[in-house]
Amino acid sequence: MMRVIPKDKVIFHFNTTNQANYTVADGEVFWVEADDCYSGQITDASVKRPDIDISIMDCAVGPINVEGAHPGDTLCVEVLAIDLADHGIMVTNCGLGVLGDRITEPDTKIIPVHDGFAHFSDTIKIPLTPMIGVMGVAPKSGEIHCAVPDDHGANMDTKLVKVGSRVYFPVGQEGAGLAVGDMHACMGDGELSGTGIEIAGRMCLKVTVYRDRPIERPVIETFDGIYFLASRPTLDESIKVATADVVEFLMKKLNLSFPDAYRLMSATCDAQICEVVDDNVTVRLHCPKFDTRIQTL
Ligand code: CA
Ligand code: ZN
Repeated sequence: MMRVIPKDKVIFHFNTTNQANYTVADGEVFWVEADDCYSGQITDASVKRPDIDISIMDCAVGPINVEGAHPGDTLCVEVLAIDLADHGIMVTNCGLGVLGDRITEPDTKIIPVHDGFAHFSDTIKIPLTPMIGVMGVAPKSGEIHCAVPDDHGANMDTKLVKVGSRVYFPVGQEGAGLAVGDMHACMGDGELSGTGIEIAGRMCLKVTVYRDRPIERPVIETFDGIYFLASRPTLDESIKVATADVVEFLMKKLNLSFPDAYRLMSATCDAQICEVVDDNVTVRLHCPKFDTRIQTL
C-alpha cells in the first residue's frame, strides 16, 4: 500500500531544527497532499487577497525525512504524478506582480479545472501544465520562510518541477527534511502577475539519496537536459551563480579548462527565467545533453 502523507502537518520556514513529521525510506514512492498556496483560505471569489492571513500562506507539507540522507549527500525527488483539485485560483492585488501598479482594486477569479484544461472563461481554455511551486529541504544554516527560494529550494516557482522531472537538492541536515506545496495548474516562466493558477491536489514522489554527485543548489534533470537553478535578490546575481555552476559541471565532466568550459557553455546553454516575483529571483541554466558524458548530474 503506497503511503499518503496528509496535508495537515506543515512548516512555514525551512530551518536547521525542524523535527520530521514523517519518515520515508530511501527509494520510497509516496503521495503528498497539499492545499493551495493560500492554505485554503480563498473559498470563493468574494475572498480577496487582502482579506486573508498571509502569515499562513505558502506553507509546505512536511518535513519528510529520508532514511540515510546525511549532510553533504544529494537528495533526488522524482515527480511521478500530479493530481489537481477541480478548481484553481488567480488573484490580482495592488502591487502584485510586475504590473501590479496598474491594479486599482483586488479581485479573485476561480478557474474550473477538468478534462485536461483550465477553463479561464466561457471562451478561453488553457491546456494544463501542472507543477509544484514549493519543494525544498532543510538548509545548511539559518531559517528561511517557505515563500523565499534559495540554495535549499523552497518557492522556486519553476514550471519544470513537473511530472517526469528529477529535482536534486543538497542535503543540509540529517534526513534532509523535504517539504512540498504550492501546486499550480498552469504557470508561465516568470510568474509575471505574481501567481500561477493556484490549486490544491496531491503529488506522487520518489526519493533517492546520492552520495556521489554533490551540489550546492537545486538542479533539475529532464529527458532533454540538466537545469542548474539559482535564486538571488536580482536577475543578474542569479544568472551569474547558475552560469558558474554549469561551467564547473562542464569542466568536471568533460575535463576542460575554465576558458574552454566557459565558451562551450556559451555555445550550448540557455539562460531561462523561472520566476521574478518572489523575494529572490529564480533562474535556470539549461545544459542540453549534447555529449554522452553529460547525460546525468
Ligand atoms: Ca509560489
Ligand atoms: Zn503558487
